[in-house]
Amino acid sequence: MEIKLKEMTIRELATGYVDNMEDGVVAYSGKLDVRPAYQREFVYKDKQRDSVIDSVRKNYPLNVMYWVDNGNDQYEILDGQQRTISICQFVNGYFSINDRQFDSLETDEQEQILNYQLQVYVCSNGTDSEKLEWFRTINIAGEKLSEQELRNATYRGPWLTEAKKHFSKNNNPAQAIADKYITAKWNRQEGLETVLSWISNGKIESYMNMHQSDLNDNELWLYFQSVIMWVKTLFPKYRREMKSVNWGILYNKYKDNFYDANELENKISKLMQDSEVENKKGIYEYVFDNDQKHLNLRQFDDNIKRTVYERQNGICPMCRGTENENKHWPYEEMEGDHDIPWSKGGQTTEQNCVMLCRKHNREKSDK
Ligand SMILES: [Zn+2]
Repeated sequence: MEIKLKEMTIRELATGYVDNMEDGVVAYSGKLDVRPAYQREFVYKDKQRDSVIDSVRKNYPLNVMYWVDNGNDQYEILDGQQRTISICQFVNGYFSINDRQFDSLETDEQEQILNYQLQVYVCSNGTDSEKLEWFRTINIAGEKLSEQELRNATYRGPWLTEAKKHFSKNNNPAQAIADKYITAKWNRQEGLETVLSWISNGKIESYMNMHQSDLNDNELWLYFQSVIMWVKTLFPKYRREMKSVNWGILYNKYKDNFYDANELENKISKLMQDSEVENKKGIYEYVFDNDQKHLNLRQFDDNIKRTVYERQNGICPMCRGTENENKHWPYEEMEGDHDIPWSKGGQTTEQNCVMLCRKHNREKSDK
């Protein structure tokens, strides 16, 4: 991989600046993709924008910018997008500063701006993993790209173009069928990231690497539709907790088993009404594997534990008949246990609380 310093003037950069909103922004005589379509929104505040122009007018240096060389004299901005847009917009009359547009500046003032030297580092000929590593490193200092935006900058190709059409353009088809089932900022690539992590069981980069040159993303798009269809079929009654369940992971594990939607709904409805269940979205995992850890069941609060501790005088009932028979444990070394467990209807109340020594509480909860 090569990283070369390219010096250019604002005149060169701002030539041919075109802003087509969602369809992209180009500069540098059309050879620079300033905002690779759908990658991110322009979020600079006026104040930041103005201070970029102020620095230029005073001939102060701006931070270096980073481009990726995509071959055939075509480039893409990796870092410096917002500075570039600020500069190009000012020079092209999109906004004024102190009521002065670029056109109304004196000729020598205009020339000073147009001749201002920019420093751009251009990366070319890198392998994908080299590029990704480089992107990650410079991303620490620059305007932050999300992990998935970094991957998209790395694993380019026809597959990615198609995948972005399905998963990242505003009002994309994936969002249309699944917005209620996924929490994502789609335009920041979070929807794409989620479905990729589902289909690859978390190995997003190797999946993207493997499919980079595929001509379409049919596998991913069909997979995604299957997941959502499966969810809608098994859980026809919608609840807001369903927006933050990791559906693809459940689909991967349980799609081949038989489930009855009515039976699932009965279980869910009951658990939703159970105030002992503190993690309601975990219910959707619990109904598959019956593991209580998903439910975050209520714990005894300090007040109840303290009350029961005093009543027991610091003695653990399960220590009876052991060498710790009459030991008075310090409060900190005891834990609150449900005498009747949750699975048998026990509640998190003082009446149902027993203080046990740590060892016995662990033993009991292992059973
Ligand atoms: Zn004990």
